[in-house]
Amino acid sequence: MANKPQRAPRASVSTGDFDVTEFSKEFENLMRSKKFNAFQLQSRCDSRTSSPAPSQSPHFAAATTSPRSTSCPLPIMPHPPRDAVSVKFCNLLRVLSVTPTKYENPGLLDDALTAIPLDRLYAEADDEHQIHQAQSASVGKKPQWGYQDFVIQSLLKWFKKSFFTWVNNPQCSRCYMPTIVHGMVPPTPDETARGATRVEGYKCAGCGALERFPRYSDVWQLLQTRCGRVGEWANCFTMLCRALGSRVRWVWNSEDYVWTEVYSEHQRRWVHVDACEGVWDQPRLYTEGWGRKLSYCIAFSIDGATDVTRRYVRNAAKHGLPRNRVPEDVLLWGIYEIRRIRREKLPEHEHQRLRKEDEREERDLRMFTMSALAKEITSLFPGASRPVRGDEHKTPLTQDQDAAQWVNPRQQGESENSGPDGHR
Ligand SMILES: [Zn+2]
Repeated sequence: MANKPQRAPRASVSTGDFDVTEFSKEFENLMRSKKFNAFQLQSRCDSRTSSPAPSQSPHFAAATTSPRSTSCPLPIMPHPPRDAVSVKFCNLLRVLSVTPTKYENPGLLDDALTAIPLDRLYAEADDEHQIHQAQSASVGKKPQWGYQDFVIQSLLKWFKKSFFTWVNNPQCSRCYMPTIVHGMVPPTPDETARGATRVEGYKCAGCGALERFPRYSDVWQLLQTRCGRVGEWANCFTMLCRALGSRVRWVWNSEDYVWTEVYSEHQRRWVHVDACEGVWDQPRLYTEGWGRKLSYCIAFSIDGATDVTRRYVRNAAKHGLPRNRVPEDVLLWGIYEIRRIRREKLPEHEHQRLRKEDEREERDLRMFTMSALAKEITSLFPGASRPVRGDEHKTPLTQDQDAAQWVNPRQQGESENSGPDGHR
């Protein structure tokens, strides 16, 4: 994972496929992150009050001005934006962070539940869960997944197969012939009222009629239209998971992709779910499966934001893109600000619970990087092998039409500031 440049560039030393410079960088990052966690822990031990905003904390101020910072590498300290580009990026994160807050509407979630065949999904989940329990017992192991995990898996199958439709070019509504891209068209008052700020125009290849494709980011609308591309899919699916009672995250990737994370209470961790692909718990799909390179993956939930890039990019040297949109300390500040805003009205015991969860996740994310490094090192020695654990199995190449879309996702005038409907 990249960090803000602090040292003079060194000559890259390569040993076969293994880049020693990258290895050193990774190691430095790990040490930095380890020190940062120890530092956070110390800060909390020193103060019994609820956590102040990072920028207001005297501990952070002391650390950033410490003379030690010139002599040894310190953990990254959150820092407010110093320039217009960073301000813009932090503002973008703030805008994106609003998406999952819209799911917390009882009327919306009630409406969503009426669209879901609950009896069927619960029955299916029950069957799958029982089979899973029996299989686990037969080999003397504890079940890997809980009942609610199977409920979401059933929802995932139904959503992709029966509920939502993928739209590239909409069909002509007059003669049902295929259409070709015509360009963006201004929204009608009705489309604007229903939340579509961007409308794509398509011309029918048969009768020449203009077909409109409004891009809705309003989940209420998506329950009605039930179609779209990855933005609409991820947005609507994440909301439906929430309606079924799971804690959810809407994950934004800066290379113009979005997906879902659902919290597994059984496993006490966030699980990757991609509604477009019908994929459950395959976070390495995009990099090691499809060969994509990613820079930022930020997860937004009702409780804040988290940089989850390391879950999706295990080996930054192979699958990471430069993280140069904003200095790392400013990104951290932006994320902490979103957490502060989302959590400011929570009682202290909720703060504590979320902090513990943040720490546990940070340990997991760090472990992913260490594990990838260990794998790199092991691969230097011919004949060496290491056991595969947890979600580390490599996803086979499953690139299909949806995935191919990602290669050239941005169409006419799509803007990264346009929220979930701005993606693919
Ligand atoms: Zn037509």
